[in-house]
Amino acid sequence: MRSSPSLDYDVAIVGAGPAGAACALGLRHSGLRVALLDKAQFPRDKVCGDAIPGHALKALRQLDPTFADSLWQLRPMDAVRNSKLVAPNGANLVLEWKLPSFNSPRETFDDALLNLVRTHAPATAILENTGLKDLQIDADHVRLKPLQGPEITCGLVIGCDGANSVVGRKLLPEPRLARAHHCVGVRAYFENVAEAQSGTTEFFLTRDYLAGYCWLFPVGQGRYNVGLGMLAEVVAKHKVDLKETMTRLLATHPALAGRFASARQLGPIVGFGLPLGGGRTRPVSGERFLLCGDAASLIDPLQGHGIDTAIQSGILAATQALACFDKQDFSAAHIAQYDAQVAAKIGKKLAKSYRLMRFLSTKPWLVNAAVRLAKVPGVKPWVQKAIG
Ligand SMILES: Cc1cc2nc3c(=O)[nH]c(=O)nc-3n(C[C@H](O)[C@H](O)[C@H](O)COP(=O)(O)OP(=O)(O)OC[C@H]3O[C@@H](n4cnc5c(N)ncnc54)[C@H](O)[C@@H]3O)c2cc1C
Repeated sequence: MRSSPSLDYDVAIVGAGPAGAACALGLRHSGLRVALLDKAQFPRDKVCGDAIPGHALKALRQLDPTFADSLWQLRPMDAVRNSKLVAPNGANLVLEWKLPSFNSPRETFDDALLNLVRTHAPATAILENTGLKDLQIDADHVRLKPLQGPEITCGLVIGCDGANSVVGRKLLPEPRLARAHHCVGVRAYFENVAEAQSGTTEFFLTRDYLAGYCWLFPVGQGRYNVGLGMLAEVVAKHKVDLKETMTRLLATHPALAGRFASARQLGPIVGFGLPLGGGRTRPVSGERFLLCGDAASLIDPLQGHGIDTAIQSGILAATQALACFDKQDFSAAHIAQYDAQVAAKIGKKLAKSYRLMRFLSTKPWLVNAAVRLAKVPGVKPWVQKAIG
């Protein structure tokens, strides 16, 4: 593998969340000089539902089985056995997922992922408190301009810097927010929620807001991540105040009212954006750069999970980075192989989810009917397959 000694690093990964950490783990045997920079100091919080999808753990297991094994030891955490889906008419359906998964606060989970990098990729330069402000692609290298400190040069930059990616914004056309492909979510932690069970994640759909849902996820030690997510288009059209709507739903939704009467809210309701995948074909790479995870808009439009696709794309980006250094080819045409991989392994499924989300978002009766039909023996697996 040929490295470029005149540059500070061969590869700079911007963002040390799930996508960036997975990418650094994917490069652990490469011999390349890798920097993993993040604007935050870990452990840091990230607004999320804290449900770690089974596919995220499966992808890490494929890199090294001990990675997933060690994450199962995290505390706090709650192993998920099943999910309860409450339809707009109040009927409910319990689904058992095939892949083992758990919930754990992102402050804990992301720190553990970064610790895996520290342990298994010790040559990686982890630069915390290093926010990227700007970057420039030159003929034979990339120049990164941090908010503070000197410029950093590298041969290839991998943008894993989340929903408001600086790398994506600076290097890709069409930076305008597309509300039909963006969700907004809010969440708060609670304890002492009545009738909530360890091992069961709960999803609540309402007639008014079908392009989204309210959730109640146990995250261990008697705490619950409770939130509401909705398509930005719906939020804008109906001028929804998500924080106020969430508080109101907790007090009035037939399946929730009363359950929060003695609950204690731990901290404020906070929000963040979810760039959805599956709707448009937008490049996720170019000359000397690649984008992963939220920076590449890879969140599942139906369920709102993106930790799995962040990890999967981070690993695919590591493979592409190896190919670039192997062939000494950093051209957009060569790196476009990564776009093809992302489209085939992630994009296709997201496109199906997007179509289903749009289809169901105007048909509460259909959601009610699907939940009712799922009670018929033999039909439940079909419903489960459609949801993902
Ligand atoms: C309300 C809500 C609920 C969600 N619930 C779930 C869920 O339950 N399960 C699930 O799978 N997904 C969920 N998601 C989606 C999930 O949070 C993201 O898909 C996932 O975090 C993407 O990982 P990432 O590594 O791409 O980005 P991030 O996790 O956002 O990590 C990006 C990193 O980049 C750093 N960074 C940002 N800008 C810069 C910069 N300029 N310079 C340097 N560093 C920078 C940040 O500090 C951060 O550490 C939810 C999202 C929201 C908003």
